[in-house]
Amino acid sequence: MTTALSPLAQLETAHEFVARHIGPYADDEAQMLSIIGAASREALISTIVPEAIRRPAPMDLPAAVGEAEALAELKAVAAQNKVLKSFIGQGYYGTHTPGVILRNILENPAWYTAYTPYQAEISQGRMEALVNFQTMICDLTGMAMANASMLDEATAAAEAMTLAKRSVKSKSNTLIVAGDCHPQTIEVIRTRAEPLGLEVKVGFAPQLMAENDYFAVICQYPSTTGLVHDLKEHVEAAHAKGAAFIVAADLLALTLLVPPGEFGADIVLGNTQRFGVPMGAGGPHAAYMACRDEYKRSLPGRLVGVSVDAHGNPAYRLALQTREQHIRREKATSNICTAQVLLAVMASMYAVYHGPAGLTRIAQRVAAYTAILAAGFKQMGLKVVTPVAFDTLTVETAERTDGVLARALAAGANLRRLSATHLSVSLDETTTRADLEALWAWFATDGATLPRVAEFEQHTESLIPAHLRRSSAFLTHPVFNSHHSETEMLRYIRSLSDKDLALDRSMIPLGSCTMKLNATSEMIPITWPEFAAVHPFAPADQLKGYALLNEQLTAWLCQATGYAGISLQPNAGSQGEYAGLLAIRGWHLSRGDAQRTVCLIPESAHGTNPASAQMVGMQVVVVKCDANGSVDLNDLEAKCTQHADKLAAIMITYPSTYGVFEPRVKELCAMVHRFGGRVYVDGANMNALVGLAAPGEFGGDVSHLNLHKTFCIPHGGGGPGVGPVCVVQDLVPFLPGHVAAGQPREGGVGAVSAAPLGNAAVLPISWMYIRMMGAEGLKAATEVAILSANYVAARLSGHYDIHFSGGHSGIKGGGVAHECILDLRPLKDSSGIGAEDVAKRLIDYGFHAPTLSFPVAGTLMVEPTESEPKAELDRFCDAMIAIREEIAKVERGEWPREDNPLKNAPHTAASLMAADWAHAYSREQAAYPVASLRQAKYWSPVGRVDNVYGDRNLFCSCVPMAAAE
Ligand SMILES: *Cc1c(COP(=O)(O)O)cnc(C)c1O
Repeated sequence: MTTALSPLAQLETAHEFVARHIGPYADDEAQMLSIIGAASREALISTIVPEAIRRPAPMDLPAAVGEAEALAELKAVAAQNKVLKSFIGQGYYGTHTPGVILRNILENPAWYTAYTPYQAEISQGRMEALVNFQTMICDLTGMAMANASMLDEATAAAEAMTLAKRSVKSKSNTLIVAGDCHPQTIEVIRTRAEPLGLEVKVGFAPQLMAENDYFAVICQYPSTTGLVHDLKEHVEAAHAKGAAFIVAADLLALTLLVPPGEFGADIVLGNTQRFGVPMGAGGPHAAYMACRDEYKRSLPGRLVGVSVDAHGNPAYRLALQTREQHIRREKATSNICTAQVLLAVMASMYAVYHGPAGLTRIAQRVAAYTAILAAGFKQMGLKVVTPVAFDTLTVETAERTDGVLARALAAGANLRRLSATHLSVSLDETTTRADLEALWAWFATDGATLPRVAEFEQHTESLIPAHLRRSSAFLTHPVFNSHHSETEMLRYIRSLSDKDLALDRSMIPLGSCTMKLNATSEMIPITWPEFAAVHPFAPADQLKGYALLNEQLTAWLCQATGYAGISLQPNAGSQGEYAGLLAIRGWHLSRGDAQRTVCLIPESAHGTNPASAQMVGMQVVVVKCDANGSVDLNDLEAKCTQHADKLAAIMITYPSTYGVFEPRVKELCAMVHRFGGRVYVDGANMNALVGLAAPGEFGGDVSHLNLHKTFCIPHGGGGPGVGPVCVVQDLVPFLPGHVAAGQPREGGVGAVSAAPLGNAAVLPISWMYIRMMGAEGLKAATEVAILSANYVAARLSGHYDIHFSGGHSGIKGGGVAHECILDLRPLKDSSGIGAEDVAKRLIDYGFHAPTLSFPVAGTLMVEPTESEPKAELDRFCDAMIAIREEIAKVERGEWPREDNPLKNAPHTAASLMAADWAHAYSREQAAYPVASLRQAKYWSPVGRVDNVYGDRNLFCSCVPMAAAE
C-alpha cells in the first residue's frame, strides 16, 4: 500500500480477497526474491518485461471489493434477469438437476478444478465418466462411435458438415439443410460454410435433394417445430448420391424414437442439456457427435478409449485425435481443444442415476403430456400442425398470436413465436398438469370451456406412430443399472473423483494452461436461478442482467487488453481464434482484398492456430523461430515480402509459447502492418500481461482470451471454456453477430456459437474475479505469476537446463516470463530417461505433470501461477530435485536404464504389494521417495498406460471394462 490509511480505514479495507487469491505471503516474497537474485518485485518485473511494451496507464477498473460485497453487487445484476417458465424449446429445455449431481459434481472442486485428461493415470475417474457419456450417446443414437463432447449443438452441426465433406464420395460442394432445423444451427453452419466455399441450401429437404447434387443433408429429429419426420427413405436417397445423411437429434426423444443409427444415418449430433444441465442462457452444456465406424478416425473432438496399463489391466486414455492439432497443424480436421467435459460428466451421471427405465419414464411422461395438450387444443377447436410429435406442438393461432403470447407472459411463461400466425410450445421434465391447464387457458378465446387434464387420465398414448417407435434396448451396461439409490450414486461419484488429481489436492503446473485458483465465491453465482434458469432466446427485456454482465465484463476486459471491442460469444479459445480470423477476413473482404488469404504462423505456435486458419480458408505459411524461441524477424520479412499481395495476418503468442517476452514485438507488428496484414495475438498467455502490458496497445489487432485460464473459470476436466474475441476499433463491425437472436453486426459475420453469449452461465466467474481483484490486485497477480515462475526456474536451474530463458544477467535461472521450460533432452543420452518418465514419476510424488513436449519435444513446461503458495512451490521443486537425483543414479549405473523408479512409474499400491519384488530399488523408494509423502499419498489407480495399444485396438464404450471386472 502506498497511501497511508487511517487506522479505521485499515480495519475497513476490503482488499482481503487479493491476499486470498495470491498464494505467496508477503514475507515469502522477500525469500523468493533473494533466491532469484532480484532486489524487489518491481526490479524483477522491469528486468523481465520489456520497457517498450509496458502500459502507459493502469487499467481503469472499479476499486476492488470483498467477497460478500461482490456477491451482493452481482446479485443485483442477476436480479435484472427475469426467470419465467420456458416453453420455448428450440434446443433448450427445463430439467431437474439431481441434487446429488449438482452438489457433488457441478459444485465440487474435485470435478471442476481438474484438467483435461492428458495424463491418463491420474484421470481414470473422469475418463470413466466420459466413457459412460460416449456409451450413452452410442446407445441412444444407435451409432458405432461417439466422442467425449462438442461445444454446442450448432457448432457440432458445422463440424458434422466438414466431417461429411472429408468422408463422402460425392464431389459436390453443396450442403442441404432442412428448413426446420433450429435457426441458430442454420446460422452457425452458414458462418462456417462460407469461407470454405461450401454452398448451403436451406429449405424443404426432399425437394432440394431431388433437385440438387450435394455432399450431405442435415435434418432435425424431431424438427424445431416439433414434427417427427420419417427419415428412412431420405437417407437411402442421399446414400444413392454418395452423400452423407446427418441427423441433429434430441437425446430424450431418442429413448422413444427409432434411433438414427437404425435407419442408416452417417453422423448424429445434438445437445445433452436436458440431461440435468441448467439452460444457463445457452451454455455451457455438452453437445455430442456420433458417427458410423468408418468415420471414427476423422471424428473431431476428444475420444476416450480403453487401453491396458503396464500390468496388463484395462485403463482409459484419450485416443487417436487427442493431440491432433499439434500433430497435423493446418491439416487438422477441427480446431476443438477445450470442449465441455464437466457438463458431459453431468449429463452422463444423469443417465447413470435415472437408468434406462428412469429416462424412458421421463420421456414417456413428456410425450403423454404433449399428447394430452394436443387433445385439449383440438377439443378447443385449435389447429395443431404437428400431428406426429414428441414434446413440441406448433399451433395455428392466426390473428390471436400476440394475445396468446401476452397472456402467457403475464402469467410468467414464455412461448415460442414461430411466425405471425403460429406459436409453438415445448414440454419437458419439469412440466406439470397445472402447466397444461394454464396453456389451454392462454390459448383459449374468452369464455370458452377449458379442458381438464383429469379427462385424459386414461390416455397416455404418445403422438409417435408405431413405425417410428423405438424397440431396441439401450443403456444395458451395468453402470446405468446399478447406482439408482442416492447413497450408491453419491459413492460412485466420490469413488471416481478419488481416482483423480485436481487442484483441490495439489498444484497443476501446466505451462500455457494457467491452472490457478478458482475461488469458491467466484463459483457461487453460476447456480443462482437468475443466471442458470433462463432461456437464451427469451425476450431481451428478461435478459437485462446478462446484458449488464456482458457490458461490464466486456468493458473490464477491454481495459485489460487495450482493445476497443469484445464479443463473449466464442465458447472456447479455439472458437475465439476462429472468430478473430473471421474478423480479419471480413475486413480484408470489405476492402476488396479477397486475395489476402495467407496467414503467417511461427513454428512454435499452439496447434489450434493453424487449425483455425484452415477453418477460415487461409493458407498457413510457417515462420521460423530463432535460438531464443523468438520469431525470426529476418525470416518474417522474407515471408512478408514473398507473400506481400496475399498477406492476411500473422498469429503470434505473447509472451511466446516458450514463455519469452520478445523485446522486438512492436517491430514485428509494425512490419506485418506495413505489408497490409493484421496481427493476431493469441491471448492464452495473458496471465503474464494483465496490468503490465496490453496487446491492443503494443500492436495487436485481434486477440482471444481464455477466461478459463487467465480469468479463473475452472478447467472442468476439459471444459467449459470461454474464448472472448477482442479487436481494435476498425474491426469491431466484424465481430460475430447473432441474427437468430436479433443481433446482427454491420460487418456481416454471423454467429460462431449457438447462443448469443456462448457459455453465458460461467461468465459470472470472471466478473467476480475482476471485481474482487481490481486493477492493483490483477497487476499484483501478474507480477507474482512471473515471480513464482522465476523462483521455480531459479531453484531448479542447478539441476535442469532452463530452456529459452531470457538470459537476463543477475537473475538466477536466466529470467523467464510466467512459465519455464525444463529441457530434459540431454538426460535422454546420459540416462535413457525422457520427459514422459519424469512426468509419470511426478505422479508418485503426488503431482500432476507440467505440460509435456509442448512447445518443444522432450521438455516439460512449468507454469506455477500466482495462486500457489510458496510451500507448494517448494514441495514441487523438492520433488523435481529428488527426481533429478534418481536420474543421476541411473546415469551412474546404480540402477539399470530400463528398470528404475522412473521407467516403472507410476507405481500402484497393488504392484508394491506383490509377493515378489524383483527391482533394483526398494518398495520404499518407489512409494515414499520423500518423507512428506508418508503424511499424504496419492495412489495412482493404474500403472503406466499404453497409448499405442489403445489406438491399435480402438474401443470407446463401457463394455470391455465390465468384462474385465
Ligand atoms: C489453450 C490454448 C489455446 C486454445 O484454447 P482452448 O480454450 O483450449 O480452445 C490456444 N492457444 C494457446 C497458446 C493455448 O495455450
